[in-house]
Amino acid sequence: MAERIQITEQERARAIELLGREPRTPFSIKTRCCDGSPQVLLADPVFVEDGRWKPFPTFLWLVCPELKLKVAHLEEKGLIRQFSEKLASDENLRESFTKGCSEIIQIRVRMAEEIMAEEVPESILTILSETTIAGSFDIKGVKCLHAHLAQELAFGNNPIGHEILAMIGICRHERKTQ
Ligand SMILES: [Zn+2]
Repeated sequence: MAERIQITEQERARAIELLGREPRTPFSIKTRCCDGSPQVLLADPVFVEDGRWKPFPTFLWLVCPELKLKVAHLEEKGLIRQFSEKLASDENLRESFTKGCSEIIQIRVRMAEEIMAEEVPESILTILSETTIAGSFDIKGVKCLHAHLAQELAFGNNPIGHEILAMIGICRHERKTQ
């Protein structure tokens, strides 16, 4: 499968350490920081729990500590509201944001079809095709800046993530010298 790349046990352990919890779904590493450490994780958009398939629409996780911190600072400064207002008033932004949203929806549904190897039931399909990357049913809502940046880094199709990146710059980890 194109999106799901095998990772080593060591990489998996590092990713979980950065995430800070044991994830409920299988995942792969979508993008890496300049020192090679995991930056954005791509989780399966569907997973089995108690023997049943469950949808998991927030399938991109930003795990780079530096980027997470910088984005948290932007959120503290009220940028979620600012971006929401811009999305409401700026037609061009809204258009490319919506386009990125539909692309993410297509990727999610395609992944779910491949993982489940069966027809995706309506109840799961609804959640995978009607929520944003931040898991909100409000397609024009912003909700969480981390998710938008993760989408931009992973697929290059989130204009809000793009603006965030322009504000904070890409992370520059110290290279460890022995
Ligand atoms: Zn980083």
